[in-house]
Amino acid sequence: MVYKIIIIGSGPAGLTSAIYTSRANLSPILFEGYTPGGPLMTTTEIENFPGFPEAIDGPELISKMRKQAEHFGTKIITKNIDKVDFSSKPFKLWAGEEEYQAETVIIATGTAPRKLGLESENRLSAHGISYCATCDGPLFKNKDIAVVGGGDSAMEEATFLTRFAKSVTIINRTEKYKASKIMLKEAKKNLKIKWMENTEIKEFIGDKFLEGVRLVNNKTNEETELKIQGAFIAVGRIPGTKLFDGILKLDKGYIVPKSGSEVKTEIEGVFIAGDVSDWEYRQAVTAAGMGCKAALEAERYLRGGTRSSGY
Ligand code: NAP
Repeated sequence: MVYKIIIIGSGPAGLTSAIYTSRANLSPILFEGYTPGGPLMTTTEIENFPGFPEAIDGPELISKMRKQAEHFGTKIITKNIDKVDFSSKPFKLWAGEEEYQAETVIIATGTAPRKLGLESENRLSAHGISYCATCDGPLFKNKDIAVVGGGDSAMEEATFLTRFAKSVTIINRTEKYKASKIMLKEAKKNLKIKWMENTEIKEFIGDKFLEGVRLVNNKTNEETELKIQGAFIAVGRIPGTKLFDGILKLDKGYIVPKSGSEVKTEIEGVFIAGDVSDWEYRQAVTAAGMGCKAALEAERYLRGGTRSSGY
């Protein structure tokens, strides 16, 4: 069987594509992966998604979008797509050994947090090490914690975490900050924030729970230890595009859209939506907007290029 449309990804971008294409009777199937929902699943209060003046929890928002997609007939499959072949039509996609074919594909695979890559990091992840301040910050009331990174995310998370923590130490590997001036200034004003520059984490210390970090100053090679009970890693994100390397044009891992479009790729019939190609805005609402655009473009492509009769 050749499906009209296969959607990969189950965050706001993928689910919005599913709502639009199922409502247009295109009977999409959506691969939600084994950890569905994307970063919203670990977000507590979303105050800036239109329509929810009292704020809404990330998982609840995703659950509502999922129900809406299913309501119009989207078939959701809890598997990862492991391999694709876009070299001829219909496009081929594999989930394990199972092959699926589709006339169009919408890629909405999002991003995942970048890790430092230490063995001790894996061991103590979720036992004091976190990648999401909004999700886990309240667990660190009156604790000494560290935030790793020097970008806007690190500044934002550190400032946010001072609401709970006794102290927050920002550990930056250089003395330059990638963060915008305004966010750096905001963090610098905050007396609860301490600063360590030219410093890298060599090891996270702790048996069951994080108790501290072994640090090295990369200018002097001096090693020190810092006692902390929490560490938030904010060193950027990695787009979910390994699958498309060599198939679609990537820039720093993000899929590059076809010139003049936000959601078309160089391959006709393959569309993109959400953070997988958006390093800049990365909002639930912008991802949903892109999901809508990708769906409308996919429908237009399936109609042979003509504009839809309306949604
Ligand atoms: P980013 O701007 O890429 O910054 C990543 C930071 O992590 C840099 O300081 C980088 O250091 C450091 N880093 C990377 N790998 C590391 C490693 N292995 N060990 C230690 N440090 C490492 O990422 P981001 O802060 O997540 O921001 C991404 C985008 O989202 C940016 O465009 C940002 O402006 C935007 N953003 C905006 C807001 C806001 O406006 N409210 C909030 C958050 C994010 P080097 O500089 O040495 O590479």
